[in-house]
Amino acid sequence: MIANSKISVEGNKLQLTSLWVAGMIILLGLVLFGVVVSTSGKGEKALINEFTRLHIATSDTDNITAILELNKLNWDAINDSNFALSKKAHWFSVEVSPDELGRSQLVEVSFSNLDKVDAWFLDKLSGQQKTILAHYKTGDSLEFNARDVKHDQLIFPVPMTGLPNQLYLRVESQSSLKVPIKLWVEDEYIQYIGSNRVFIGIFYGFMSAMALLNLFLYISSRNPITLLYAGYVICLSITLAGSQGLGYRFLWPDSPAFQQYAVLFFVSLMAFFSSSFTASLLDIKQHHPFFLRLFNALRIIILIYILLIFIIPYGLVTSIATLVIVMSMLIIFISTLFIAYKGNAIAKYLCAAWFSLLFSGLLGLADSFGWINLHLDPSYLLMVGAVIETLFMALGIAMRFNDQRLLAKQARMKAAQNKQNTIQAKEALMSLQLETKEKLEYAVDERTYELEIAIRELNEANHELERKSSIDALTGVANRRSYDKKVVAEARRSRREKTPLAIAMLDIDHFKAVNDTFGHQCGDEALKHFASVLKDCIKRPSDVICRYGGEEFVVILPNTDIEGARLLMESVRSTTENSQIQCAGKTIKFTVSIGVSTRVIATDTEYELLNAFADKLLYQAKESGRNQVKALEF
Ligand code: GH3
Ligand code: MG
Ligand code: MG
Repeated sequence: MIANSKISVEGNKLQLTSLWVAGMIILLGLVLFGVVVSTSGKGEKALINEFTRLHIATSDTDNITAILELNKLNWDAINDSNFALSKKAHWFSVEVSPDELGRSQLVEVSFSNLDKVDAWFLDKLSGQQKTILAHYKTGDSLEFNARDVKHDQLIFPVPMTGLPNQLYLRVESQSSLKVPIKLWVEDEYIQYIGSNRVFIGIFYGFMSAMALLNLFLYISSRNPITLLYAGYVICLSITLAGSQGLGYRFLWPDSPAFQQYAVLFFVSLMAFFSSSFTASLLDIKQHHPFFLRLFNALRIIILIYILLIFIIPYGLVTSIATLVIVMSMLIIFISTLFIAYKGNAIAKYLCAAWFSLLFSGLLGLADSFGWINLHLDPSYLLMVGAVIETLFMALGIAMRFNDQRLLAKQARMKAAQNKQNTIQAKEALMSLQLETKEKLEYAVDERTYELEIAIRELNEANHELERKSSIDALTGVANRRSYDKKVVAEARRSRREKTPLAIAMLDIDHFKAVNDTFGHQCGDEALKHFASVLKDCIKRPSDVICRYGGEEFVVILPNTDIEGARLLMESVRSTTENSQIQCAGKTIKFTVSIGVSTRVIATDTEYELLNAFADKLLYQAKESGRNQVKALEF
C-alpha cells in the first residue's frame, strides 16, 4: 500500500513535469511561427506577383509556333492558379516587364511537383515576327540532371533585353495542377532562398536527429514504439522533402518514375506508421479492443494500397490516396480524441500532436486556396506544425515509458513484498513446527512418565498380590500353594548340591477339642500362637514354615540331616508343650505331634515320596500317643 501511494505520488509529479514540457513545446511553436512569419515577410517583399493578365489555353501540342498562330480569342483571362486534376497540357502566357533598376530577374513556378514544364521567353516587338529568346525544360518527368536549370524549384532566368518579354509556359501534370507564377529580382531570390535553406536545414536536421535518436533508443530498449516513431518521422520528412522538390534533387534524382509515386508512397507509409504508433502508444490492444479492430483494418487497407500504388493506373492511385489519407486521419484523430476524452493523459498530448500538424496543414491549404492570406510559404507552416507534432509525440513516448517504468517498479515492489510475506510465512510455520514438536515431545515424556508410574504401580500391585497369594492370612506364614512351589525348588537344590532335604509334618493334638472347649475364635488364636512358636524355633533364613491346611503345618529344612531335624522339631514340640495362651479369660495349652524325614533327593518326584513318608511318621507319632517327634531317614 505504501509502495503504491509512493508510485502514484511519483506519477503525479511526472504529470506536472509533462504539463510544463507541453507548455514549453507550445511556446516553442509560437516562437517558430513568429520566426516563419518574420522571414517570410522579407520573402514576400521580394516577391513580385503582379500578373495583370494571365491567359490560358489547353492544347496537346508542344509546338510553340503552333500556339503562337492561335487566334488571340482562344486565350482566357484568369486570376486563379489552381486547376485541380487535369491531364491535358495547359498553356499560359504573361508579359514580363524588365526591372526598373535593370537588375536581372527570374520567373518561379512555386509548385515543384509538376511533371513537365516548358518555358519560352519571346521578344515583344510589335508587328514583327516573334523570336524565341530562351527555352527552358524542367519538371518531374525529366531526369533531374536533364533540367535546364538544375534547381529543386522551378525557376527560369528572364533574358536581359531591357524590353518587356512575353513568357509562354506549357505545363502538363498527372497529379494536381497548380501553377503559381512569381517574378523575382534575382538578388532578392538569392537572399530568400538563403534564409529558406537555413530554415529547411534546421528542420531536416531536427527531424533526422529525432529519427536517429529513436532508432538508437529502439536498439537499446527494443520498445517497438520508438521504431514506429522513427519510421513515422522519416516518412513525414521524406514526404515533405518530396513535396518541396528536395527529394527528387537529393534522394532519387535518376528515377523520374519513382518521383511520380514518391509522395504518395511515403505519405501512405506515414499513415501506416502513425496508425501503428498510435495503437502502440495508447495501448489500445489492452484497453480498446474496438479501436484495435478498426486500426488493424486500417493498416491492412493502407498496406494493400501501398502494394497497389505501383500497379494500378496513376489517376486511380491519386484519388484512392486522398480517400485513404482522409480515412486514416479521421480514424486516428477521432480515436485519439475519444481516448483523451476518457482521461488518458498520453492521448491528450497525442491529440495536441495531431492537432498541430492538422492545423498547420489546414491553414496552409486555406492559404493556398486563397481563403485566407497568410503572406507566408505554407510549407514553412507545415514544417513548424511537424516540429511541434514530433515533439508532442516524443512527450507521449516519454510518458508511456514512464508509465511502463512505474508499472515495472510496482511489479518489482509487489514481488519483493510477496517474497517477504513468503519468508515470514515460512518462518512462522517453522516456529510453529518447532513449538508443536516441543509440545509433542513434552506430552510424550509426560505420558511415558505416567506410563512408567502406572507400570511400577502395577508391578507393585502384582508383587503384593503375589505375596498375598503365597501367605496364609491367619498365621502369616507361607500357605499351601507357596509350599508346593518351594518344596520343588528345594528338592532341585538338594539334588544339585547333593545335600539332605528335611521335611517335617506337624499336627496340633486334639485341636477339635480346643475349638469345642474355647470356641473357634480361641482356636484361631491358638493357631497364631503355634505359628509364632515355629517362627521362634526355626531361625535359618533358608528354612520355610508353611500352613499345610487346618491345624497342620509343614516345615522345609534344606541342607539338614535327620539328627539336626529331629533336634529342631523336638525343640518345637517342647516349646509348644511348655507354652500357653490366654483367650476369653481362660488359659489354653496344647501339644503337637511331628513326623520328620530327610533325604538327598535324586529324582524329580522324590520329594513327594519324602513328604508322604514324613506324613506317615506323623501318623505314627499320633498313634504312639501324640506329643512326640518321629524322625527317620527316608
Ligand atoms: P488329633 O489330631 O490329635 O487326632 O485330634 P484332632 O482333634 O486335632 O483331629 P482332627 O484333625 O479331626 O481335627 C482337627 C480340627 O481342627 C477340626 C477343626 O475343628 C479344627 N480346625 C481346623 N482348622 C481350624 C482353624 O483354622 N481354626 C480353628 N479354630 N479350628 C480349626
Ligand atoms: Mg489334623
Ligand atoms: Mg490334630
